[in-house]
Amino acid sequence: MQFRKSDLINLLALLVLIWVYSGRLFSLLTIRTLKGESIFSTGYLCDNCAHPLKWYENIPILSWLLLKVRCRECNHLLSKRSLIIEII
Ligand SMILES: [Zn+2]
Repeated sequence: MQFRKSDLINLLALLVLIWVYSGRLFSLLTIRTLKGESIFSTGYLCDNCAHPLKWYENIPILSWLLLKVRCRECNHLLSKRSLIIEII
């Protein structure tokens, strides 16, 4: 059985996506646990104003860069902790 180059690229892209999203889930669980919050409550919230982040603001790593590291509501600096956990 031979793999084509495009199959390998697709597989690699899928693995990167799984890796990034598992990092996102892990960071969410870690932060919620540390704060004593429920892990089944709403999605990501701004640390400062509790503004719920929209789906396009919630794309791992990419959204952090697109939002220019600040909440769109209150302009508060978003947590670097979750980004670092996502990358790891
Ligand atoms: Zn905010």
